[in-house]
Amino acid sequence: MQVIQSVNSLKETITSLKAENKSIGFVPTMGALHLGHTSLIEKAKKECDIVISSIFVNPTQFNNPDDLAKYPRTLESDLSELEKVGCDIVFTPTKEEIYPSDFIEIHLDLGTLKGVMEDALRPGHFHGVVNVVKRLFELTQPKKAYFGLKDFQQVAVIKFMVKEMNLPVEIISCPTVREKSGLAMSSRNMRLNEQEKKDALIIYNTLMQAVENAKIHTPKEVKKLAIENFNQGNLKIEYIELVHPLTLETLENKWVEDATMCIAAFCGEVRLIDNMQIF
Ligand code: AMP
Repeated sequence: MQVIQSVNSLKETITSLKAENKSIGFVPTMGALHLGHTSLIEKAKKECDIVISSIFVNPTQFNNPDDLAKYPRTLESDLSELEKVGCDIVFTPTKEEIYPSDFIEIHLDLGTLKGVMEDALRPGHFHGVVNVVKRLFELTQPKKAYFGLKDFQQVAVIKFMVKEMNLPVEIISCPTVREKSGLAMSSRNMRLNEQEKKDALIIYNTLMQAVENAKIHTPKEVKKLAIENFNQGNLKIEYIELVHPLTLETLENKWVEDATMCIAAFCGEVRLIDNMQIF
């Protein structure tokens, strides 16, 4: 496995891979890797000649400086996990490599995806995500890029950007990998103590209950029941929404195929998100 830090050596490597006509699969990450991340690498390996992963804790997508400071950084074990799973190239740039002084930001109007859920609660987050992902796509030139549905709104935003900007990459969305308990794997789970890990299961339980409730209730009723159930636990809700899978518009009285419930909540000091296809 090749570890590349500089943009210049990445460019050289990409040029020679392109000359050999190799298809590139790309998996962007912020490190602190777990089985959710490696599932993306495994899928990319099946579909592409060469898999590139990046590890970059992107400061511009953190709206909370404390969250950025406390974000887990575990580079050595990340590299050994990536090696084990057969990743070919890991790009570990510095902030300066990603954002040189002549970096030109893009400002994308996210349409119906803006002002809701993560965008409402984390202003500027998706602006940071869109810019870093576009930059990483330009640098790695992938045929396909792999994203986890754990970050449901992020997948919608990236697909929207690719379509709007006509970028030559196919976005592959991959299922959420969970602990046996049902807790969605997340780098932030490292910050939970044992009690908090138990408390956090209210998220999965609420989503599973919503799947059952959807069989006999309207979306509006399912959301109300979900909030009631959630509030019996110890987490602090940021939002529980039932949305259209593509436009993210709130569902009220009518179900649509792949209607998705999204939850964000604080478990102690740690902000967790999860979602599930409900209908
Ligand atoms: P992050 O390092 O949190 O930026 O995540 C990098 C990629 O891994 C994103 O596409 C995430 O959606 C994906 N990811 C994170 N957690 C999971 C999970 N539990 N299952 C599947 N994909 C995940």
